[in-house]
Amino acid sequence: MKVLVINCGSSSLKYQLIDSATEEVLAKGLCERIGIDGSSVTHQKAGSGKVKTEVPMADHTDAVKVVIEKLTDAEVGVIESLQEIDAVGHRIVHGGESFKGSVIINEEVIAAITECNDLAPLHNPANLIGIHSCEKIMPGVPMVAVFDTAFHQTMPRKAYLYGLPYEYYEKHKVRRYGFHGTSHDFVSKRAAEILGKNREELRIIVCHLGNGASVSAVKYGESVDTSMGLTPLEGLIMGTRSGDMDPAIISFIAEKEGMSAADVINVCNKKSGVLGLSAGLSSDFRDLAEAAADGNEMAKTALDAYAYRVGKYIGAYAAAMNGVDVIAFTAGAGENNAEVRALIGQYIGFLGTNIDPEKNRLRGEEVILSDADAKVVTMVVPTNEELAIARETVRLVEK
Ligand code: ADP
Repeated sequence: MKVLVINCGSSSLKYQLIDSATEEVLAKGLCERIGIDGSSVTHQKAGSGKVKTEVPMADHTDAVKVVIEKLTDAEVGVIESLQEIDAVGHRIVHGGESFKGSVIINEEVIAAITECNDLAPLHNPANLIGIHSCEKIMPGVPMVAVFDTAFHQTMPRKAYLYGLPYEYYEKHKVRRYGFHGTSHDFVSKRAAEILGKNREELRIIVCHLGNGASVSAVKYGESVDTSMGLTPLEGLIMGTRSGDMDPAIISFIAEKEGMSAADVINVCNKKSGVLGLSAGLSSDFRDLAEAAADGNEMAKTALDAYAYRVGKYIGAYAAAMNGVDVIAFTAGAGENNAEVRALIGQYIGFLGTNIDPEKNRLRGEEVILSDADAKVVTMVVPTNEELAIARETVRLVEK
């Protein structure tokens, strides 16, 4: 089955065409600046280089047309016609409490996703536009929605309720939802597979350390806690997000700086995290690790604060699960940044992780970092959210 995986942002559309039989990515790409001047598509056929072309795209429907053009192009294409696309898998950010797993998209599902728009005003409307655009261009092709929140729907009430008046949960559904669920699910499954064990017998802490970052506690196959909350702002210090902080800071800064609460939240989302901590140096862990190696104190502090927070979450989740068997690092920095992993390693040695510094130098591959005597197996497991979405799509379409 050939599955088109779509991840729509407000002005972007990422795509991958995956052959489910071989799990090979046939082609992938990114449409950028949709609806803005200077829109472009960067397309890559497997085995070839990336090709960036400027193409006017007034909306996401235009973008889906461009994707189909690229996929069927005589030179850079990989299929003859769009009839070869058997199904489409859409990444949907927020499924609220309505979705505990992936679903085939129909009118009812679209209505339920629309109801979650309030909870993810930047993401869900864009995801829905992606669905509608594909419906227009590929009518009749089955589509599946895969939610970032679904995997965490197994969290118990004690983990997802905030210490707030209960009426806010009842009236407005204010609770912890968590994100990156597709990745936490994929990585915890794969970690168990690599170890030749059942996920159902392991307590796994997954550290998804990308630009956005979250930690989850996966106990015997189910997510029982995760660091992101109602929105992706909570939890770890991230590339540009503050993560956990005293909520009173919002009104304090708003008053001091003459800003609205929404303005302060915007700063917390876009100008904080390691970018803010390094006084604007960079949100990218590569830049920070380089600057720190050159003696830049701000970069060092940002990385220390980042690693310290990850370490604290690992400790907390070991307590949440009354123990931990496996710690898995994934996503951009988790997979590739040996410096960041080494800094985190300082805080988790007490668990018996026995991280081997030689193995920790490896990047971007599946590797067990711990030595044979470790009580807790620490490992790197590259994530693959697109493949997970394609697998879910095939599972549901073939049902
Ligand atoms: P997102 O998908 O959330 O945008 P990624 O998972 O791509 O983010 O992670 C981005 C982060 O990963 C960046 O901070 C980047 O520095 C880090 N990263 C990616 N590749 C490398 C690498 N080869 N070495 C060190 N850090 C890397």
